[in-house]
Amino acid sequence: MKRPPPIQWSYMSALPAVAWPAVPTAAASSVLSLLFQLDQSQWLAVESLEERQREQLAVLLEHAYRTVPWYRERWDGAPGVPGLSQLPLLSRRDLQDSFAGLRSSAVPPEHGVIAETRTSGSTGAPVRVVRTAFHDLMWRALSLRDHRWHRRELSGTLAAIRRGFGRGSSPSWGQATEGLVETGPCLTLDVDIDAASQLEWLQRHDPACLLTYPSLAAELARLSLERGVRLPGLREVRTLGESLSEDLRALCREAWGVPLVDMYSAEEVGYLALQCPDHAHYHVQSESVIVEILDDAGRPCAPGETGRVVVTELHNFAMPLVRYDIGDYAELGEPCPCGRGLPVLNRILGRTRNMLVAPDGRRYWPSLGSRRLGDTPGIRQHQFVQAEADLVEVRLVADRRLSETEEEKLRRHVLSRLPAGFRVRVAYCERIERGAGGKFEYFLSRIAG
Ligand SMILES: [Zn+2]
Repeated sequence: MKRPPPIQWSYMSALPAVAWPAVPTAAASSVLSLLFQLDQSQWLAVESLEERQREQLAVLLEHAYRTVPWYRERWDGAPGVPGLSQLPLLSRRDLQDSFAGLRSSAVPPEHGVIAETRTSGSTGAPVRVVRTAFHDLMWRALSLRDHRWHRRELSGTLAAIRRGFGRGSSPSWGQATEGLVETGPCLTLDVDIDAASQLEWLQRHDPACLLTYPSLAAELARLSLERGVRLPGLREVRTLGESLSEDLRALCREAWGVPLVDMYSAEEVGYLALQCPDHAHYHVQSESVIVEILDDAGRPCAPGETGRVVVTELHNFAMPLVRYDIGDYAELGEPCPCGRGLPVLNRILGRTRNMLVAPDGRRYWPSLGSRRLGDTPGIRQHQFVQAEADLVEVRLVADRRLSETEEEKLRRHVLSRLPAGFRVRVAYCERIERGAGGKFEYFLSRIAG
């Protein structure tokens, strides 16, 4: 197959008096070195990829058994690589309960500074993980792979509408490209405003690239069509964080005349799969993770079958995640005709409708204060459900009932995040059921169409 020439970027040099070819900082050079290898390993046959994974996995499993109490207690001796499928799954609940027990007592110092990440709780149950500086380098290299696969110029403006990112601007696209490639600016906007205002913001800035959640991209595209809004500078929509609805790609084409590129990542592990440059499905990032797709009996799915996503991260030696049941479902695919040996996921199944429908008909992704709920002792999990046109239910899985004062405080907090006219009810439940696609939904509207 004839491929287009690689995209040309402007690399940043850190060496005095050398502008070209660039010699970036040591960290950025390590990222480039990884990227150079990723460019080659993507073409390995699946057997060769698996062989290299086994080599890395052997080191990881030995390290996990020797230095991580949680695994040492549960594994029946140091496991061999072929025994991976016999090892117990690690659940989100285990991660919540055993933060200390899952940390390694002997992280290789060469892997760099250890930092803690707390997930935003967008899937209902916040977890904490620690990872090393090396893990971040790998994340940067995979980010650049995504940029290269999709031939991004990087010189345009990136507009990101994401939870936890307030209104702001920075001179570059972010950490992945820092000190390495010249980029345009990045503008951010929180999801916590209505879609009409978000669209006005986009019109004002006319970015080259829009990064947001599928449900929000859909809402903005529909609104654009309704109002005849054009975004002439837009080249691409990038999405993350939710499953794609069937029609979203077509909708973005219709509204803005641009392609949509989705990615599959999770805050606690990083990238799992990136969209193929030539097809609408995803390639597992095998240089960084082993992804198993398992049926209800725990057996590996065949291509075309849907099952639970179970992840083993190959490089986090500060807190190895071995067979982590991430809570998503995905459909396994056949090998890709593009020639890459990286396994294929056809679809990621997850949340469906997550937009609040306000009394005046506006729809938006509400931000109802998940982080605060995650901080309340005794609350394990929570979900907001728009049960009726004017009623939001806060569903809690908790070790105890909240006091009346706590409940009242919680109700007032949620009300302050909602348009006028809503009521809020607190409900306790044994567990929060998964949505149709198998993913926990932070916000679920029973009345959104
Ligand atoms: Zn492919």
